[in-house]
Parts: sequence; C-alpha cells; structure tokens
Amino acid sequence: MQSFYNFTINGLKSYLTENGFKPYNADQLYKWVYEQKETDYHKMTNISKNLREFLEKNLTIEDLEIDSVYESSDGTVKYLFKLEDGSLIETVLMTYDYGKSVCVTSQVGCNMGCSFCASGLLKKSRDLQVHELVRQITTIEHHQKIKVTHSVVMGTGEPFDNYQNVIDFIKVINYKHGLQIGARHITVSTCGIVPKILEYAKEDIKSNLAISLHAPNNYIRNKIMKINMAYPIQEVIQACKDYFEVTGRRITFEYILLDGVNDKLEHADELSDLIRGINAYVNLIPYNPVLEFHYRKTDPAKASKFYLQLTKRGINATLRKEQGSDIDAACGQLRYKKEDI
Ligand code: SAH
Repeated sequence: MQSFYNFTINGLKSYLTENGFKPYNADQLYKWVYEQKETDYHKMTNISKNLREFLEKNLTIEDLEIDSVYESSDGTVKYLFKLEDGSLIETVLMTYDYGKSVCVTSQVGCNMGCSFCASGLLKKSRDLQVHELVRQITTIEHHQKIKVTHSVVMGTGEPFDNYQNVIDFIKVINYKHGLQIGARHITVSTCGIVPKILEYAKEDIKSNLAISLHAPNNYIRNKIMKINMAYPIQEVIQACKDYFEVTGRRITFEYILLDGVNDKLEHADELSDLIRGINAYVNLIPYNPVLEFHYRKTDPAKASKFYLQLTKRGINATLRKEQGSDIDAACGQLRYKKEDI
C-alpha cells in the first residue's frame, strides 16, 4: 500500500486517471484530506462507492507514529517520529506571534558532516519520501489540533541531497487545496549545493531560500563545513547572485556564532564585504552546544557587537533568540541520544 500523502495534485490526477477515475476526483480528495482533515474514505460523501473502495485497498491516510513528544518551557514542541522501517526522525513545532511553524527533517541522518552539527553524528541511511515529509506536518496538525502556517526545511538532512522529494513536498503543502501554506512562508535551507541552488531558482514555486554560510572565508568554512571543499564560498555567493537574478527573491544567510572561530569583528567586516550588494539578510544564530563537540556559543554581549558591526556596514541582520535548547531542539540531538541508548 502507498500513502495518499505521497501525491502532488498532478501526480494524483495521473494515478486516478490510469486507474479509470477522473482527474477532478483528485481535487475532491485533496479537499477532504487536507482541508476537512477527513481520514476515513467512507465519510467522503461526494466520492463514488467504486472509488472509495479502490482507495481503501490502495492508499493509506495514516499519521506518523509518535514515539515521544518533548515540550520546552518556551512553547517549542519536539516530536520524535518512528517511521514504518523503524527509523527515528525529529520534527519541531515553533509558535510565533505570526503563526505556527514546523521544522521538517529531510533525510534519516546526514552526510554533509558539518563539524558543529549533531545531525552528522548519524550518517544518512536514506532519503525521506514525499509522504514522510508531508506527514510530519499533518500529524502535528492532527495531534495539536492547529493549523500550521509556516514551514522550514531545516531539520536533520540536506534538502538539496533529496531534491525532488523536497520539491514535491513543497508543491503538496503549498497547493490551494493542500495544506495551503503560502510559498513565502516556506523556506528551504541548504549547506550550499551550488547546482541545486540554480535548479531551485528555476522551479515553478516561489518558496524561499536560506544558505548556511557560517563563515566569511574559505579558510574557516573548509574547517567547519566539509561541503565547502566541493563548492567553495565564492561559488556559493555567485549562485546566490544568480538565484536573485532569476527569482528576485531575498535570500537568508544563516550564520552560527561559534566562540573564537567565526565571531571576531574582523569576521563581521569580511562577511560584509563578501555579501555586499546581494539582496539578503544575515540571521545570526546562537550555537546550541552539542556534548560531543568542543564548540562553545558566543556570549550575548559579543554577539550583539558582531550584529552591530554588520549593521554599521550596511548589512541587514537579525540576532535570533534561542528556542527549545532545554529539549535539545538543535538538529539531530534528540535522535542521536535516543539511538545511542
Ligand atoms: N542541511 C541544511 C538544513 C539542515 S541544518 C543546512 O545545512 O542548511 C539547519 C540549520 O541549523 C543550519 O544552518 C545548520 O548549520 C544549523 N545548525 C546545525 N547544528 C546547530 C547547532 N548545534 N546550533 C545551532 N544551529 C545549528
């Protein structure tokens, strides 16, 4: 049996047509499942008995199995899901004044090997399928009885290493009768896989792009992000310029402040020169310490100075406040602990 959640609207239309049904049935089904949250085919009153029986036999509409749920004092909720093959993945729900955002995991483990990130402690064992991406959101919506308004693909894994499934996932959640999450409310974050940045720019979806930059030059970036050996920083920056040329959409640069590694004022100056002229803003992220690594977070006073240095040099920046650190909400931490037991 396949999952209903595996299908984009066009995929579902083809699947139904191939099996002797009508393309318009796809929209009817999308409305039931995503808008009405109906998971019992028998209650879908405008669907023919014939089709309902076919669906009953061929497509499941099940939520992910919840292994455990952790709630932070700041309202952040972390889910550990168990997939059909026993793999554990983590998904985080964050509540803001503007809405509810789900941070989605794209792969089981990660092969990018960034030296500060807990996700890489467990090597990638496989890509997540479209339904496993979509069900991270639908399961949370059902469990919390909420409407998710934003999504970021910033959990474990490298989304551009699971490219097509992530694109189809965005199509499902963005569709007008799907989860109806606006394209401007969806962000994909990459460690900088240059050819995929350019491919993403040309997709017929208007979702956002974030780049995990984390360093102002090749010397530091090579040390902390292995991917920089394959795609050096200048190539990443050029890809961002090309992306803007095609889409006209502003980019986010993520920059974790690591004590004594990339947080000196001269690094802020170098970063300003590197990205000057690009329509972007820098999101300065406090490091969430990972027990297995030696990195420490930059203290708040120094972080503020770094931030001010950027703004003084005309760079748009934000200093992100920490969320969920008391429940190990940093990428991959929870899953690693659980697998390790
Ligand atoms: N592979 C993608 C998406 C997953 S990581 C990427 O690299 O962008 C999402 C973000 O969390 C990245 O910017 C990543 O560098 C950052 N991150 C990883 N470990 C972290 C930690 N311990 N503290 C703070 N941010 C972390």
